[in-house]
Amino acid sequence: MNNIQKSTEDFLKKEAYSEFDAAHPRFIKQNEEDVLKFQTENHYYCKQCKFFFAPTVLGLKTHFKGDVVKHAPYEKNCVYCEGSVYEYYLNNVRQYYHNCQNS
Ligand SMILES: [Zn+2]
Ligand SMILES: [Zn+2]
Repeated sequence: MNNIQKSTEDFLKKEAYSEFDAAHPRFIKQNEEDVLKFQTENHYYCKQCKFFFAPTVLGLKTHFKGDVVKHAPYEKNCVYCEGSVYEYYLNNVRQYYHNCQNS
C-alpha cells in the first residue's frame, strides 16, 4: 500500500470516528432506549443471563441447552416428566420453556 493511500484511509477512519463522537449524547441515549424497547418486545429475554436471544424454538433450545450457561431451573418441575422447567420473558411477560420427555 502506498503512502497516499494509507494516509487517505487514516483520514477517512478519523472522519468516521469523529462523526460518531460528534453525535449528540441525547441522540445516542434515545437510540439505546429504542433498541432496548425493540428487543424487549421482539426477543426472548433470560433474566438469569440478562440476555436477549432469538424468539424461536431454536433460540430457546440453544439458550437453555446448558452449553454456555447452566441455568437454575424454575422452582417447579414438569408434572409429566419431572424434567426441569426454565423461565424466560417476552415483552416482560414470563414464559416457560421445557423440552418435555413425554411429548
Ligand atoms: Zn440464560
Ligand atoms: Zn415434561
